[in-house]
Amino acid sequence: MKILVYEGFHEDALEVLRGKYEVIYDPRVPEKEELLSAIEDCDVIIVRTYTTIDREVIDRAKKLKVIARYGVGLERIDCEYARKKGIEVVNSPLGNVDSVAELVIFHMLSTLRRLVEADRSVRRREWDRKKFEFYELKGKLIGFIGFGNIPRAIVRKLSGFEVNFVAYDPYVDEETMKAMNVKKVELDELLSTADVVSVHVPLTQETHHMIGRRELEMMKPTAVLINTARGKVVDEDALVEALEQGRIFGAGLDVYYEEPPTNRRLLNLPNVVLTPHIGGMTKEANRRMAFELVEKIEKVLSSKN
Ligand code: NAD
Repeated sequence: MKILVYEGFHEDALEVLRGKYEVIYDPRVPEKEELLSAIEDCDVIIVRTYTTIDREVIDRAKKLKVIARYGVGLERIDCEYARKKGIEVVNSPLGNVDSVAELVIFHMLSTLRRLVEADRSVRRREWDRKKFEFYELKGKLIGFIGFGNIPRAIVRKLSGFEVNFVAYDPYVDEETMKAMNVKKVELDELLSTADVVSVHVPLTQETHHMIGRRELEMMKPTAVLINTARGKVVDEDALVEALEQGRIFGAGLDVYYEEPPTNRRLLNLPNVVLTPHIGGMTKEANRRMAFELVEKIEKVLSSKN
């Protein structure tokens, strides 16, 4: 049994795999040609964020049984086609929930406190404490767009912060939200009332540019937007415009239209906090996700034997 692993994997989980299977490990994102030839005789492929597994790649695989995504997002994998060809697609959605939730809270606090900008000013030997306007998190209304695993973990973690929550998610019922003290609202109500708007939907045709010019115009001038989901859920040009014109207070971003981001206007803005797609990249999350995935891969392999 041959397992192809790209884009890095936790060492301990790799050792477990090496003890049982033939493992071909390459920590880089493969070039398309490399991938096409390597996949031909492998039984399992493990990828992380940037490897695309399309029809052409799937058609080249002669023995493939499992496509495993180390993490959550499946937008670079043609899941429908894979399943049609009898190949299972598995991911590890739970292992990084706490890490992403903690990063979201960091972005909330640091955008409201202009933490990164303040840090830069100290390094420039400036000491102007009145230069910035700062806000507390206490008493604020937090609005989640999408109410899956990550926002639920944020609600639990923010229980001592004395904040209130609303969420827009047509696929989650009112009772589930109510049980967590979250009020279910429509998108427009969320945008016009929340102090912190935090995006947590997967990237799909429906959610592409879900937050555009119209939606940003509805936000309060004191509100901040946090996006740790996927860059293309937000219209980046419209967001840059809103931030340049001070129509919203700030933004905290972990994901971008293009990764790494090349939008100079975005990179030059003072009122954004930018992190390099590290939501799920803690040591603890990497380990949990890797073992979550190994377990799922082995379950599929044993069911196919
Ligand atoms: P999840 O799958 O648990 O929840 C997604 C929620 O989005 C679901 O409740 C679903 O009903 C809702 N949804 C789908 N389409 C919607 C729509 N059109 N409008 C409103 N809601 C909609 O996902 P999660 O674990 O909470 O993660 C959220 C997203 O965060 C993931 O999809 C992934 O893209 C991203 N993510 C990023 C990182 C990172 O490193 N920054 C790490 C993990 C996940």
